[in-house]
Parts: sequence; C-alpha cells; structure tokens
Amino acid sequence: MDDCLFCKIITGEIPSARVFENEHVYAFRDINPQAPVHILVIPKEHIASAADIAAENSRCAAKCFEAIPEIARQEGLGSDFRVITNSGSGAGQSVFHLHFHLIGGQPLGERLV
Ligand code: AMP
Ligand code: ZN
Repeated sequence: MDDCLFCKIITGEIPSARVFENEHVYAFRDINPQAPVHILVIPKEHIASAADIAAENSRCAAKCFEAIPEIARQEGLGSDFRVITNSGSGAGQSVFHLHFHLIGGQPLGERLV
C-alpha cells in the first residue's frame, strides 16, 4: 500500500523504534505511549483493520499473537499485559493498517472503556 504509514514503517521509509521483527510481523514503540510499555504489533501484509480479517488472511493475525508473548517477555512484562485493537474510526482507529497495541509496565485497571 503506497499511502500507508505503517507499510512505510515496515520498509524503513519512515523511521521507527523497532523492538521485534520476523518474516510476518513488525513491532515498534508507539510514538505517543499511553503506558511505560506501549508497542504496536503489526502484520507485514497490509490489512486495513480487524474488520477485514477473514479465513484467507487470518494467519497474519495469528503470527502477531505468536509474537506478542515473546515481545512481552523481552520487555519484562511476563504475562501481565493488555492487547487492544481499534477497528474503524468510530472505535478510535487512526491508522488503517491492522495493529495490536501491546500495553503494560504498570498496573492496568479492570475497565476497558
Ligand atoms: P489507533 O488510533 O488505534 O489507530 O492507533 C494508532 C497508533 O499509532 C497511535 O497510538 C499513535 O500514537 C501511533 N502512531 C502514529 N504514528 C506513529 C509513528 N510514526 N510511529 C509510532 N507510532 C505511531
Ligand atoms: Zn499498510
């Protein structure tokens, strides 16, 4: 996708603070962190949002979830973290390349919204 911020981050055209990368997944620090650890975990394949996950592309999402525990360990979070994805502008999505916010490093309350 020529016009996608996160596709440009994957290629390195736009710089990012990378924390993890493999064949399918790229992860980097959110530029505006909302917790001591706030990482965006994204598939290298462009999928606009969670609303677009289907049988043909769900492997990308699975690869992100396989990476998440490894990144959490690397960041010293152990098993205490939160994963959030916003789908659609009505739910607060501002970048339309699927991404999972991996948040932790502080006690997180029970309320999600
Ligand atoms: P969302 O609002 O769920 O679409 O999340 C988009 C996230 O991308 C926000 O938390 C932004 O702070 C983050 N973000 C936007 N631009 C960049 C960037 N260049 N590098 C790192 N994070 C970014
Ligand atoms: Zn993209």
